[in-house]
Amino acid sequence: MKTPFVTKEQVEEIVKTYPTPFHIYDEKGIRENARALYNAFSWNKGFKEYFAVKATPTPAILRILHEEGCGTDCSSMAELVISEKSGIVGNEIMFSSNDTPAEEFIKCAELGGIINLDDLTHVDFVYDVLKDVDIKDPCSSGRMPRVMSCRFNPGGVFTLGESEEGFQVMDTPGDSKYGMTEEQIIEAYKKLKELGVEEFGIHSFLASNTVTNEYYPTLAGILFELAVRIQEKAGVTLSFINLSGGVGVPYDPEGIPNDIAIIGEGVHKKFDEILVPAGMGDVSIYTELGRYMLAPYGHLVTKAIHEKHIYKEYIGVDACAANLMRPAMYGAYHHITVLGKEDAPTDYVYDVTGSLCENNDKFAIDRKLPKIDKGDYLVIHDTGAHGHSMGYNYNGRLRSAELLLREDGSVIQIRRAETLDDYLSTIDDYWDIR
Ligand SMILES: *Cc1c(COP(=O)(O)O)cnc(C)c1O
Repeated sequence: MKTPFVTKEQVEEIVKTYPTPFHIYDEKGIRENARALYNAFSWNKGFKEYFAVKATPTPAILRILHEEGCGTDCSSMAELVISEKSGIVGNEIMFSSNDTPAEEFIKCAELGGIINLDDLTHVDFVYDVLKDVDIKDPCSSGRMPRVMSCRFNPGGVFTLGESEEGFQVMDTPGDSKYGMTEEQIIEAYKKLKELGVEEFGIHSFLASNTVTNEYYPTLAGILFELAVRIQEKAGVTLSFINLSGGVGVPYDPEGIPNDIAIIGEGVHKKFDEILVPAGMGDVSIYTELGRYMLAPYGHLVTKAIHEKHIYKEYIGVDACAANLMRPAMYGAYHHITVLGKEDAPTDYVYDVTGSLCENNDKFAIDRKLPKIDKGDYLVIHDTGAHGHSMGYNYNGRLRSAELLLREDGSVIQIRRAETLDDYLSTIDDYWDIR
């Protein structure tokens, strides 16, 4: 069962000020979830969540999370600037980028953020590009940041512990473009140390949207053992281990959500088994969750504006893939509730579509739903992460506003909708060109 955090009556009130479609976020849910995460890792003194900005790059959301103790995980110039303007700077920024342009390393160093290197060759690249940069938190030589991190890729196939069906394949890091091999990462730490870097971290992201309490503990086991080898072989002291993102949410209403308390305890156990005996009990655990922090606390609210009966039954809504790309891009399931018809029998089968001239612009295919009438409001669930932010402008469609349902029940706008003028602004000087 998925229950929307807004009712039909609330939406009817909201649309008087903010027309559909819009994304709306639930402040209460976001805060409670962030607190549960911090609680689950309270055994670790330095624990910190760096929210993956790409999931929801909206200042009001970043501020709420910042108030709950979270920093930001950025991977582009825009994300660094959004973090800066939201008042989140210094080592509250983790910069986990790849194929990174020079200016972005410079911007991160100027902000005092923690650069997480994706490749061994980036050691020299960063050393070079930071030559005349005023680094906010420099090492004693002044040429490199004081704190830096490296991203690990174990290669091969990543599986979770043995079950009756054998090993559960989670993902194939061997095919992924990110991170360094073990040999390379050890080399990178040695070089960074020679260049004056004083504090080090490791980072790895092995599987996305995992709905199992085993992902983080398994990853932690791999990284903790690696950390012990790195300390020995590279002669550096690691101060943090970043488990990155990947803890997921069930989009399907039958799915069982992750239990963050069990996940935290699972990581704790590995910590006590591997790091504590190695004398590394003061290592901080960092996370870079995006989806887990926000997905369930966002809805895309849209209105049914057409119905069509041809070889199938279609409901046309006023949102399209420009507002939520996941179904079109990944075939992702997003649950739909028809507001006011929560308890009605789901005895109709519809494709729920947007207006793009692309037949994959469907929020639902062959979905059992209650009878939908024109004017009904639909809540598309779990759009709080990688939802609005993944939007695009194909067909000249515009991205919607973002609203926040505050803890006191009031609703404010936290990003306005794009306008036609926004869209035309990049061609406005070129109408007469030939
Ligand atoms: C996308 C991303 C995240 C967040 O991933 P989620 O699946 O949203 O948890 C974290 N770190 C990095 C480096 C990423 O690219």
